[in-house]
Amino acid sequence: MTAESVDTLIIGAGQAGIAMSEHLSKRGVKHLVVERRRIAERWRSERWDSLVANGPAWHDRFPNRQFSGISPDGFASAGMIVDYLVGYAEQIKAPIRCGVEVRALHKQAGGFRVETSDGIIEATNVVVATGPFQRPTIPAIVPEGAGLTQIHSSAYHNPRQLPEGAVMVIGAGSSGVQIADELRQAGRDVYLSVGAHDRPPRRYRGRDFVWWLGVLGMWDAEAANPAMEHVTIAVSGAKGGHTVDFRQLASTGITLVGMTKSFDGRVMHFAPDLARNIAGGDANYLAMLDAADAYVTRKNLDLPEEPEARVIRADPQCMTNPVLALNLIDAGVRSIVWATGYAFDFDWIKLPVFGAKGGPRHQRGVSEVPGLCFLGLPWLARRSSSFIWGVWRDADYLAEHIAARSAETATQLAADPGA
Ligand SMILES: Cc1cc2nc3c(=O)[nH]c(=O)nc-3n(C[C@H](O)[C@H](O)[C@H](O)COP(=O)(O)OP(=O)(O)OC[C@H]3O[C@@H](n4cnc5c(N)ncnc54)[C@H](O)[C@@H]3O)c2cc1C
Repeated sequence: MTAESVDTLIIGAGQAGIAMSEHLSKRGVKHLVVERRRIAERWRSERWDSLVANGPAWHDRFPNRQFSGISPDGFASAGMIVDYLVGYAEQIKAPIRCGVEVRALHKQAGGFRVETSDGIIEATNVVVATGPFQRPTIPAIVPEGAGLTQIHSSAYHNPRQLPEGAVMVIGAGSSGVQIADELRQAGRDVYLSVGAHDRPPRRYRGRDFVWWLGVLGMWDAEAANPAMEHVTIAVSGAKGGHTVDFRQLASTGITLVGMTKSFDGRVMHFAPDLARNIAGGDANYLAMLDAADAYVTRKNLDLPEEPEARVIRADPQCMTNPVLALNLIDAGVRSIVWATGYAFDFDWIKLPVFGAKGGPRHQRGVSEVPGLCFLGLPWLARRSSSFIWGVWRDADYLAEHIAARSAETATQLAADPGA
């Protein structure tokens, strides 16, 4: 079977693959996008039913299309995001081929040999756009045969999916807090294991936190503070958008516990770090208010003061007298939702471009192998890189790089057609 040839192959048709297609088309670079399932698949099948975007619709989008059916200050549902991305792909006439999985990527003379479920594709350039969050990770704490239903947050859809009884939610980033809240509202007893986190204010002085991140230059930060690498972020667009407040969650009946450490067959053990983790989140919250106030003063802006935003509720009993060990059977816990994040899954890329943590070595997405680029990874170029609007800007940069490479190759061929 003869191999199909393309100039640039984009792997993955989420927001990153679509943005890449738009920017390559603008520069006249011929390309193909292959997607193993459907456009925006992760927003369809790896997110819970009630999920809405973490940022308002005016912000969490590409520049050249608005969301329809929602106010700019509203938070789009996962279904709306799917419709948006499918509509966007149609708008830019992105050449997307669905149902084609890339199984292996090798280097060959002049480019790459890509093995797919639909045959071989040869490409001069390849852009890997397979997502910032690829393989769900569950720490090896509770063995499979422990008699508990255990799922990762990417497989959680709604409370009905879990057996009757109490639920332990482990991980208190944006996913864990929203899932715990939903389960509690559905009448479940819920234990929420809280590690180190940031919890920025949803709105302050009349502006959404994504606006503040922008004017304070935080979206453009180029590298995560190494001391904060393991700190998750808890934000929510649910219920019209609200600040994540662990004391408020406790007031609804959720029992907060510290980091989950071990399980001895019946009893789950937690670190004595709950108060410290919540204090860290409070400090992050208050620092953001301080930075916003300083900005208002510096720029002499007329934004209404909001002193009540600085009021922190009293600590609930689960914080002052924390549970350090919980007998899951006695507590009626029948299931665990692990909201414990993701790892990379690049085993199929047969090239020595990966560093110690499993991620590719690169400069703003341009890898050490000429023609191989990565897009959409966390902190690829800056904080915004894995977010809907940020990936669009990174794609612009990579398209410029690929167009320059194509122009160089064309010049070389013109000078020496036999090369
Ligand atoms: C719960 C959750 C909520 C989020 N909410 C927001 C939000 O509100 N706002 C925001 O800006 N960001 C949000 N994000 C972050 C980010 O926008 C999403 O993770 C988004 O899905 C990333 O888009 P992507 O195109 O980079 O990757 P993905 O959406 O992961 O798309 C990658 C695509 O590649 C395909 N693929 C993978 N491997 C192969 C292969 N070998 N061959 C062919 N195809 C392949 C997949 O099927 C998939 O369709 C959220 C993330 C999570 C987990």
